[in-house]
Amino acid sequence: MLNLLILGKPGAGKGTQAAKLLKHYHLTHISTGDIYREEIANKTPIGIMASQYVQKGFLVPDDITNDIVEKVLHEKEYPHGFMLDGYPRTRSQAEALDHVLAGLKISLTAVINIDVSDDVLLRRMAGRRVCSNCQETYHIDYHPPMTPGICDVCGGKLIQREDDLESSVLNRLSIYNEKTKPLLDYYEEKGLLMTFDGELSAGTLYKHIIQHLEGK
Ligand code: ADP
Ligand code: ZN
Repeated sequence: MLNLLILGKPGAGKGTQAAKLLKHYHLTHISTGDIYREEIANKTPIGIMASQYVQKGFLVPDDITNDIVEKVLHEKEYPHGFMLDGYPRTRSQAEALDHVLAGLKISLTAVINIDVSDDVLLRRMAGRRVCSNCQETYHIDYHPPMTPGICDVCGGKLIQREDDLESSVLNRLSIYNEKTKPLLDYYEEKGLLMTFDGELSAGTLYKHIIQHLEGK
């Protein structure tokens, strides 16, 4: 049983590592970002309320997010454990989570923190492009298309996603630094924090994470 929490700045590569770990350990994925995107797509009352925050890159109010996660943790099955992704993001969410887990008599195994400098993040995001037609993704330095600005797959025009624009990235980074970064101390004090160098290649980073988890 492995109950993990994954933390990192927006664009740190959390998604890539989370996907590999989920598969490897057969964990149940609980992503508040995915939950909100689905509620928004289905135009539910929660989705309609959340969309004003999500669109601007602001956090949805804590009490709403806490209620959702509490419900999911009570209702979902996680025979091999879970990975919480995108939650908690504030100290009050972390405290609410502790409360719910205590009620369920479950404890966290480890908190994985993927550390990347702001400079590197901004460079990564600034180079990201997506095909306006088929959504294939590129990076002008790390994974360039054969012809600049044109999709290899369908010939569509490559564009920058709204949330990859520098202003949006800077906004999410400042929210992270203010609200989420204090969680690193919170989990360090509990002896749960494992910090990894997110500037390594995705494959090397994954190996490091697995090696550390084997010891748990
Ligand atoms: P990112 O795109 O920054 O990786 P996510 O996909 O995790 O973020 O979440 C998308 C959006 O959903 C966030 O910008 C925020 O508006 C909302 N959201 C997700 N998780 C939380 C949370 N734990 N608390 C508040 N809002 C959240
Ligand atoms: Zn395309």
